[in-house]
Amino acid sequence: MTATRFRKILHLDLDAFFCAVEELKDPSLDGKAFAVGGKPEHRGVISSCSYPARKCGVRSAMPSGQALRQCPQLILLSGSYGDYSAKSHAVMDILDQLTGLVEQISIDEAFLDVSDLPQDGETIARKLQADVLANIGLPCSIGVASNKLVAKIATNTGKTRSKGDSYPRAILVVPPGKEAEFLAPLPAKAMWGVGPKMETSLVNAGMHTIGDITTRSKAELERLFGKYGLELYDRARGIDDRPVILDRQVKSISQETTFSKDTADLTTLRRTLKDLSAHVAYNLRQEGFCARVVRIKIRWSDFSTHTRQVSLAQPTDQDGVIYSTVETLFKTIWTSGKPVRLIGVGSADLVETSHQMTLWETPTEKERRLLDALDELREKYGKQAVRRAIKIKPRDD
Ligand SMILES: [Mg+2]
Repeated sequence: MTATRFRKILHLDLDAFFCAVEELKDPSLDGKAFAVGGKPEHRGVISSCSYPARKCGVRSAMPSGQALRQCPQLILLSGSYGDYSAKSHAVMDILDQLTGLVEQISIDEAFLDVSDLPQDGETIARKLQADVLANIGLPCSIGVASNKLVAKIATNTGKTRSKGDSYPRAILVVPPGKEAEFLAPLPAKAMWGVGPKMETSLVNAGMHTIGDITTRSKAELERLFGKYGLELYDRARGIDDRPVILDRQVKSISQETTFSKDTADLTTLRRTLKDLSAHVAYNLRQEGFCARVVRIKIRWSDFSTHTRQVSLAQPTDQDGVIYSTVETLFKTIWTSGKPVRLIGVGSADLVETSHQMTLWETPTEKERRLLDALDELREKYGKQAVRRAIKIKPRDD
């Protein structure tokens, strides 16, 4: 008798990663409501919040001002990307020691294909979780399933179910054959890639749970959501045969311009930022990535250089979102009348667009078609040929 051979896929996600790194640096933060995020006076948002802060109502992507009103004792830290990046590399090294089949999908998340290891998935997950804590000092949650989609949802579900005010350190195993059964009772928003807008569309169409989605025909889902409806048809059943892809390095994509003559002209600087943002977004779309981090670089005429960056709530490959983000950052460093020698726009912490499935969320189908058309024109006539008025509004969450 030959049994069907199921894959063993682990999805690992570091718990409140930025906060956990801050707590390693300053153990007195233990048990306190704290968060990493932008300053309220710069209209900053929360990128990561401790579990005591969550108990107090703070959520990531919440404006920092609102978070401080919600939770007056909240300690707001500005964060140190270099430290996060170093810890992320250290964790990924541990994963690489376990199996060669590691796919990093963001700074704090990775898939591992451990099908070839003799132990069962849960045993491997427990050992891995303990190793990451012992060697790096960071807590993590792990989902185990026969594919990436279900493993990722298992991690999130495990975290959601843990109600304590400390790191969840969840491990949730979905046995092979039980994928659809596991997904069915979960709310539609638990589906990987379904954000607030898509959730509203699903609920308006009477689909409150993932199980509800499986009661609809392919044709109906396609009519409602276009080609993503077809993806949704399979995904709601826990079907996903995408392989774990190696060498998914977290890269960065950036563009910069040195002015032929230093300039303090605001219109010129803004227009340059807009062009650079469009180039970065175009390169992201060409490479199939969305960026979680957007940065700006300014070199003044005395060669002193400033960079500022921000983590977005929702990774993006959109001109408008990147431009509005760098424009906000620009306002925080620009000094009126001070000549600028070089200006740059960068993106980092890249995630694959297909993983993100934010296509369901933003841009709208119409915006997507417009961008595709612009990309075609750029290929045909060169990148300089197309300059597009910024019409896409950034998401307001
Ligand atoms: Mg995480």
